[in-house]
Amino acid sequence: MYLKLLFILAVTINFGTHSCSQLVEKTNNDKKQKMNNQAGNNKTDEEWKKVLTPMQFSVTRQNGTERPFTGEYDHFFEKGVYKCVCCGKELFESGTKFDSGCGWPSFYDMKDNENIILIKDNSIGMSRVEARCAHCDAHLGHVFEDGPKPTGLRYCINSVSLQFEADTLKK
Ligand SMILES: [Zn+2]
Repeated sequence: MYLKLLFILAVTINFGTHSCSQLVEKTNNDKKQKMNNQAGNNKTDEEWKKVLTPMQFSVTRQNGTERPFTGEYDHFFEKGVYKCVCCGKELFESGTKFDSGCGWPSFYDMKDNENIILIKDNSIGMSRVEARCAHCDAHLGHVFEDGPKPTGLRYCINSVSLQFEADTLKK
């Protein structure tokens, strides 16, 4: 019984690691190069400080994390798009937002996989996947594999990294 459990555990861990690196490799191809080519989109820290609030600067430019359950979009479910607060690129859509109960806005997919880059993050002694804006390199949050179908992913994103724009078109 014990051995069987151990086997299941090993398989689970293996699978987790495997799909995690697949996730990173799948979305990162070419994007880093693209990001480097868009250096004009980037500002110095001093320039960012002029256009961002201290909290926005701390999260997006210094990899900070807003306190859980405090973000503007944590319990916010209007229809529209969520843009990068730094450069305005469209990152997420309200249709993929769900209430994960984790304390941060959660999405099960990105709007356009050209706009977000996923990077392995081994800081704070944990193996995680970090989500950054592919255009201006803003830190957005992390991606976990405990999201709902169809992706099974949870993009756990800081509210202050996002700027919501309501969908005003009548459909
Ligand atoms: Zn950006």
